Amino acid sequence: MDCLFCKIVKGDIPATILFEDDDVIAFEDIMPKAPCHFLVIPKRHISTLNDLSDEDAPVVGKLQITAAKIAKQKGISDAGYRVVMNCNEMGGQTVYHIHMHVLGGRAMTWPPG
Ligand code: C5P
Repeated sequence: MDCLFCKIVKGDIPATILFEDDDVIAFEDIMPKAPCHFLVIPKRHISTLNDLSDEDAPVVGKLQITAAKIAKQKGISDAGYRVVMNCNEMGGQTVYHIHMHVLGGRAMTWPPG
């Protein structure tokens, strides 16, 4: 399967890895939209949020818990940060392997564009 993030999981494409276990991997976003911007993804390929099923609940929970742990390590927890998951074209998804964006280090605006 020609998936960019599966290639990062396999180590075929370089990334600055922040955390990795059997289920998830976190790495710095290559084009950061904030002073702190990293992604947390499941190792298993899931194309979009629409493809999740009940059995994915543990890994989806782990994405969020991993995001919060790394945010704390990076020192952005107290000031605050934003978590975003884009779904399909109208949601702004460009890489079709689900990923949680974690953005911090600056004030976020609402509503998002
Ligand atoms: O939500 P969306 O699909 O648009 O986000 C994809 C993200 O993946 C972008 O923020 C982009 O900078 C990031 N990316 C990356 N490393 C790559 C390719 C894309 O961090 N090799």
